[in-house]
Amino acid sequence: MSMEFTDRVTRVEPSATLAISALATELEADGADVVDLSVGEPDFPTPENVIDAAKEAMDAGHTGYTTSSGILSLREAIVDKLVDDGLEHTTEEVIVTPGAKQALYEVISALVQDGDEVVLLDPAWVSYEAMVKMAGGDLTRVDLSAHEFQLEPALDELGEAVSDDTDLLIVNSPSNPTGAVYSDAALEGVRDLAVEHDITVISDEIYKEITYGVEPTSLGTLDGMADRTVTVNGFSKAYSMTGWRLGYFAGPEELIDQAGKLHSHSVSSAVNFVQHAGIEALENTDEAVAEMVEAFEQRRDLVVDLLADHDVDVAVPEGAFYMMLPVADDDQAWCEGAIEDAHVATVPGSAFGTPGYARISYAASEERLEEGIERLADEGYL
Ligand code: PLP
Repeated sequence: MSMEFTDRVTRVEPSATLAISALATELEADGADVVDLSVGEPDFPTPENVIDAAKEAMDAGHTGYTTSSGILSLREAIVDKLVDDGLEHTTEEVIVTPGAKQALYEVISALVQDGDEVVLLDPAWVSYEAMVKMAGGDLTRVDLSAHEFQLEPALDELGEAVSDDTDLLIVNSPSNPTGAVYSDAALEGVRDLAVEHDITVISDEIYKEITYGVEPTSLGTLDGMADRTVTVNGFSKAYSMTGWRLGYFAGPEELIDQAGKLHSHSVSSAVNFVQHAGIEALENTDEAVAEMVEAFEQRRDLVVDLLADHDVDVAVPEGAFYMMLPVADDDQAWCEGAIEDAHVATVPGSAFGTPGYARISYAASEERLEEGIERLADEGYL
């Protein structure tokens, strides 16, 4: 028997980051020492007090279903965190999800239908495209690469890309894969266009806590944005909790009502004791987060300096733990060659909509970063 699949899934590519990881694992199984600069997860342990909070919650019997939108005490802690970011929400306007990815999936599925027009700022995180396509939407992409990945100088291009037909715009600052943090003027430009053309905006703020000397503004704080912004965030990056699967979205109540149906019929809820640990992560990890961010900043400086020694200039990231390395036009071939010849794993820029680059993650020790850059140089990749 041959199964028939919908266009929605067949028109989506498998994740390029996962494909590179699979290749790295294959080489490692054959005994190769791969410097993996492709990973999108902090190489720090989850803070001990968060682990303890999960154990205590398990011991206390918090192992059953929870309210679909998440336990009230976690939603209260999230509301407090959003207030710190300048955003005003009630606990009724927050849904806790198993990861920010699931939050984005639910929001996009609730907002986008066949033929809807969705605008992405390229390079854009790989899953936005897939999620929009799976929802039946069409993509318009605005390339920021000519502007060192900054949005402010590209506002005219964004203005040309949007129209009254635009339904949704996705903004991710600090950005994966560029590490760019968009200026307030850039976000105000987004606001003006969103208001003019009545566009809903998703603000993916999952790297908000990981910045170097800048304070990213939350889009929803801007005048005119509160009722058209959905803020997405999660615990994977800031608290080194990738495998715990915890995230959330906050937005106008009508969106929560609609997306909440999707949420309750698909995932029921995030894991009960993980939600309890999430409260500890939000309330008692300032020091651990600050230490991790400091380490990332040092590594960023190290990689930028090492690349400069090889005459490679990069747009210096101000947040997250990625940077885009300019490589050959055929970035796919460059990345395949780099992993095969130098045993250094990176992700091709074309996976993010921007060929000619490779994404480096500096969520690796200084020693491994030095080793990786040296190997790339030795094998002629820099
Ligand atoms: N948004 C961006 C920009 C990301 O880079 C990621 C993960 O890599 C996510 C969302 C999803 O994070 P998670 O599902 O682990 O919370």
